[in-house]
Amino acid sequence: MYWSKTLIPTLREAPADAEIVSHKLLLRAGLIRKLAGGVYTFLPLGLRALRKVEQIIREEMDRAGANEVLMPALQPKEIWEQSGRAETASNVLFKVKDSSNREWFLSPTAEEVITTLAANEINSYRQLPKNFYQVSLKFRDEIRPRFGLMRAKEFIMKDAYSFDTTDAGAMASYQKMYAAYQRIFARCGLQAFPVEADTGVIGGSHSHEFMVPAETGENDVAYCEACGYAANIEKATSGLPKTAAREIGAAPEKFATPGVVTIEALSKDPYKVPANRQIKTLVYIADSQPILILIRGDDQLNETKLLAKTGAVVARPATVDEIVLLLGAKPGSLGAVYINFERFPDDVRNSLFEARKNILERDGISGFEKIKVYADERLQGANDMTTGANEDGFHLKNVSIERDIKVTAWFDLRTVSAGEPCAKCAQPLKIRRAIEVGHVFKLGTKYSEKLNATFLAADGSRQPCVMGCYGIGVTRTLQAVIEQGNDKDGIIWPLSVAPYQVCLTPLAVAPESEPMKLAEKIYAELTAQGVDVILDDRDERPGVKFKDSELVGFPIRLAIGEKALAKGEVEIKPRSGPVQFVKIADAVSTVLALVKTVYSR
Ligand SMILES: [Zn+2]
Repeated sequence: MYWSKTLIPTLREAPADAEIVSHKLLLRAGLIRKLAGGVYTFLPLGLRALRKVEQIIREEMDRAGANEVLMPALQPKEIWEQSGRAETASNVLFKVKDSSNREWFLSPTAEEVITTLAANEINSYRQLPKNFYQVSLKFRDEIRPRFGLMRAKEFIMKDAYSFDTTDAGAMASYQKMYAAYQRIFARCGLQAFPVEADTGVIGGSHSHEFMVPAETGENDVAYCEACGYAANIEKATSGLPKTAAREIGAAPEKFATPGVVTIEALSKDPYKVPANRQIKTLVYIADSQPILILIRGDDQLNETKLLAKTGAVVARPATVDEIVLLLGAKPGSLGAVYINFERFPDDVRNSLFEARKNILERDGISGFEKIKVYADERLQGANDMTTGANEDGFHLKNVSIERDIKVTAWFDLRTVSAGEPCAKCAQPLKIRRAIEVGHVFKLGTKYSEKLNATFLAADGSRQPCVMGCYGIGVTRTLQAVIEQGNDKDGIIWPLSVAPYQVCLTPLAVAPESEPMKLAEKIYAELTAQGVDVILDDRDERPGVKFKDSELVGFPIRLAIGEKALAKGEVEIKPRSGPVQFVKIADAVSTVLALVKTVYSR
C-alpha cells in the first residue's frame, strides 16, 4: 500500500475525551474515529490490525475443533424470555421494535440463539460433542461508554459454545478452549493470564477470565506469586483467620453513642471500639426482599459475592427511608440483634409493623416479616462485638453473634485486600489492575434445559446437552495490545497484528528519484515474500514521516535517504531498537530476518 492512497489521519493531540493511552493512540494514529459515544468507525489501518487479531482467533478456534457460524444480531425477545434473561440482563440489552410493534434485542451474546439451534438440529449423542463459534458485532447498552473500544456500545466479540453429552466431556471442551485462548493471546503479543472468575448473569459453575495487566484496567485481580493463585477480586478469597473469640457478659448491653454514625467515629474517644470488634450492618433489597448483611467493621462487602452466594438476581442498597421503615433507625445505628421492632412492647410493635408494612408493600418490597440475615464467615464465632441497637444514637456491646443474632446463612462476602495471606499457601496476596480480554464458562445445563436442547443418549434416555461458552472481546483485545505496547512516540505493535509490518520511507519521492526507485524495488520484493509493506510516498519532511511512522508504530522502518544511498546503504530501524545501516543488496534479507525474529518472539 502507498501511504498517499490510503487514509491515515494522524493527530498531534488526542481529543480531550480520550482518557487512557490506548484510546488516545487509536485516535492519534488514525486507526478509529468516533461517530457517537461508544460507537466507532474503523479506518483502514485500524481495520487491518483488527482483521489480523480475528484471523489469529479463527485459526486457533479451527485448530481446537470449533466450527465457524454466523448468527443474527437481531434476536427475538421470546428466546430471552425462555432463558429467563430478558429480566436479568435487561439493563444492558439494546431493545428495538419493528413496525408491527414486535420487540427484538440486539445481540450482546448468543447463548439463546445457539441453544435454540442445537434444540432443533442436535438429536443424538452421535452428533456430540460440537463447538460452534462466530466473530460478530455485539451490542451493549452502556450507560457510560468510555475508554474507546474498551467499553463501547457496539463491539466485535468472538463467542463460542460447546455441547457435550457429559460433565466430563464439557470439562474437556472447556480445557481445549482455555488452551486455545492462551495461544491466541500469546500470538497477539499479549501478556494475558487466566484468573478464577465469578459466573455472574451468564450462570454456570466454573469460569476463568483472561486478564491483561494494565493500570487502566477496570478489573482488580488478586494473585499470589508463590503458588500462582489468581482470581478476580469479585471472586477472590484469602486465608485470613476468623475473628478471635473472647470472654463476654451474659447479654448485649445498650450504651448511648449520640451522633456516632460511622465505624471510625465509634473507634475513637470516648468509645474506642476497634473496627475489628464492630459488626457493620448493611440493608439491601435483593429481588424485592430486604436482607441484612453483617460484615466486620474493618471489611468491605463484595456485591458480586453477595449475588453469587445468595442466588439473588438483583440487589441494591436500601434507601434511608426504606431502612427506617424496616428497622426503625437510620444508617449508623443499625444492627441485627433486635430486628422487626423486637425492642418495643408487643402492642406497639404490632401497630408499628402494620403501618410500615403498608408503605413497603406499596413500594413493591415484601418478605420483611422475616428479614434474612447473611453474615460474613469471618464473623463466625465472634463475640465481644459492638453493633448498632436499631435505635438512633445507641449501640450494643457484649454481642455474641451466634448467641444474639439469628443468622440465616454464613457466606464469604468480603473483598480481599493486598497483603492478606493466600488461602492456598499463606504467602501475601497482591492486587493489580487488569483488562479482561476473554472469558471461559462451564455452563452446565442451565440453557439446554430451559431451551430444550436435549439429545438421545446411548441408553435411550433423553438428556440435556452440557454446555460451555467462551468469549473474546476482539476490539477490546486490539486496544489491549496498544495499552500494553506503547511509548512516548506512539504504538509498538507486535508483528503479528501490526497493520503493516514494514514502513518503507524514501526521503525523496519524485518518481524518477533514486530513493523512490529503490523503495519501489524493495516494496515489490518484500511484498512478493508475503511481508505487509506500506510505502510512505508523501512529499513531506523526513521528520514528519518518521514521527508518523513511529506514532502508528510500524514494527520495522526502512528509510532510504540520498546521503546513505551515496554510500550504497539504507537505514533499517526496528520500532524499539537501534538504527542500523545495511548494504542495499542486504536490505531485503535483513528485513526478512527481522520479521522472522520478532515474529517468533
Ligand atoms: Zn499462594
